[in-house]
Amino acid sequence: MPDLFATTELPGLDGEIRTAEPDLAAAAQDWGRLVQARPQAVVRPATPADVAAVVRFAADRGIPVAARGSGHSPFGQSQAEGGIVLDMTSLARVYPGAGDEVVVDAGARWHRVLRATLPRGLTPPVLTDYLELTVGGTLAVGGIGGASHEHGAQTDTVTALDVVTGTGELVRCSAEREPELFDAVRAGLGQCGVITRATIRLRPARQRTRRWKLSYATLAGFLADQRRVVGDGRFDYVEGQLLPGEPTGTWRYVLDAASFYSLPDAPDEQALLGDLSFDPDTAEAEDTTYHEFLDRMADGEAELRAEGSWFHPHPWVTVFLPDGEVETVVAEALAATTPDDLGASGLVLLYPVRRDRLATPLLRVPSTELVWLFALLRTARPYDPAGPARMVAGNTELAESVRALGGTVYPAGMLPMSPPQWEDHFGEAWKTFESARQRHDPRGVLAPGQGVFGSR
Ligand SMILES: Cc1cc2nc3c(=O)[nH]c(=O)nc-3n(C[C@H](O)[C@H](O)[C@H](O)COP(=O)(O)OP(=O)(O)OC[C@H]3O[C@@H](n4cnc5c(N)ncnc54)[C@H](O)[C@@H]3O)c2cc1C
Repeated sequence: MPDLFATTELPGLDGEIRTAEPDLAAAAQDWGRLVQARPQAVVRPATPADVAAVVRFAADRGIPVAARGSGHSPFGQSQAEGGIVLDMTSLARVYPGAGDEVVVDAGARWHRVLRATLPRGLTPPVLTDYLELTVGGTLAVGGIGGASHEHGAQTDTVTALDVVTGTGELVRCSAEREPELFDAVRAGLGQCGVITRATIRLRPARQRTRRWKLSYATLAGFLADQRRVVGDGRFDYVEGQLLPGEPTGTWRYVLDAASFYSLPDAPDEQALLGDLSFDPDTAEAEDTTYHEFLDRMADGEAELRAEGSWFHPHPWVTVFLPDGEVETVVAEALAATTPDDLGASGLVLLYPVRRDRLATPLLRVPSTELVWLFALLRTARPYDPAGPARMVAGNTELAESVRALGGTVYPAGMLPMSPPQWEDHFGEAWKTFESARQRHDPRGVLAPGQGVFGSR
C-alpha cells in the first residue's frame, strides 16, 4: 500500500479530478468482478498534458498510476490500489484524416474509430470481436481478431504513438523514431508509458459481409479445414467456436468464416466452401453490412446485460498453442471442461493465426508457422466465491500445461502470474523490456495491477 497523498495536492488540470466514492468504487471494479483495488483519485484528463502532469506528480511521490480504458480486463490490470486511475475515456477524439491512416486519442473505443473511417471507405485492418474496448486498452495487450491470420495484431497496424512515459514526458514514437519505446509500449501492458494518441494504418472497407458457420463432428476435421483456409487466405475473417453438445461431454466444432465484398460482386461460395468437409446439413450463412458484422456482439451484450450475466465474474483465460500441440491440448482441455466450468454464458474460441503476420516483439506467441488462439471465456455465478476460485485454478492448470509444451498466455485474462513467470513469459524479450521499464518508468509507478515487475 503506497503512502496516502492529499488529493488537494494534485496539480491543476484542464480535466477533472474525481474523489467521490462512486467514482473510486467504479475504478476499483472491472470486467472480472473479482479483484478490487481502490484508488484515491480518478482523473479524467482533457489533454495529453493532463496525463503528463498526473504521471509526473505520481512519479515524484512514488504513487501508483494506472491508465484505464473501458475497464474490460478481468483481473485488476487497470486498477491502482491507493493511487490514481487515469480514466482515458475522456480523451477520445478521432481526428479528421487524410490518406490511409487515422489518428485517434487512446481513450476512443474501436466502434468510434470505425464510425469515423467507414465514411472514408476505410477500415482498421484488425478489429477485436467486441468494439467497446478502447484503442489504448487493446494496444496495451496486442488486439487479436478474425482478421489477424492475415493482418497480425492491432499492434502491428499502428504506425506511430504518442506516449507519456513514467517520468511524465510526452514522446512521439514509431518504428523510426524512438523505436525502443515504440516496441516497449505495443503489447507492453502499460508498463513503460500511457498511450495518449495512436496513428493506425487503414485499408479499403467493403460494403458487405457474408459469414458462414460450418459445423464439424470431429476436432481433427475442424483443425484440418482451419489450417487449409488460413493457409490459402481465402477468407477475410476466420475464427472458430467449440460448443458443448448433447450428450454432455461431447463437443461441436464450428468454423466461423467470413468474406467481405462490395456489390455487384459477391463471394464465390463454391470456390470458398467446395473442398471443406463440414456437415452441410447444419451449415449457416448470413449476409449483413460490413458494419453490422463487426458490431455483432452488440445484441448479445444487450441480452447479457438484461439477464444479468454481463455483470457476473469472468475468469477468462486465453493461450496461444504451437501448431503441433493444438489437437492434444484442446482435446484434453475440453475433456476436463464441464458446462459448470464454463458457466451459462461461457464460450470456447479456437482459431489459427499465421506467425509471420505477428511482428510485435512483446506479443509473445509460439514460434511455429501457425499459432492457435485458444480461449476459455468463462462466466461464474455471482455471490459464489468458490466458483471463480475453481475456474482460476483451472486457468492456472491450463497455462502450466501449455507453457510446458512451448505455448504462451495472452495476458488479458484472469491468471495469477509471479514476477519469475512474467520473466519466463517474455523470454528473449525480457531484458530489453526490463531495461525499457527502468529507463521510462524508473519509479515503477505505472500499471501496478499487471504485477509484471512485482508491484501487484
Ligand atoms: C467482451 C470482451 C471481448 C474481448 N474480445 C477480444 C478480442 O476479440 N481480441 C482481443 O485481443 N482481446 C479481446 N478482449 C480482451 C481485451 O482486448 C483486453 O482486456 C483489453 O486490454 C481491454 O481493453 P480496455 O480498453 O477495456 O482496457 P483496460 O481493461 O481498461 O486496461 C487494460 C490494460 O491496459 C492498460 N491501458 C489502458 N489504456 C491504456 C493506455 N492508453 N495506455 C497504456 N496502457 C493502457 C491498463 O492500465 C491495463 O493494464 C475482450 C475483452 C472483453 C471483455
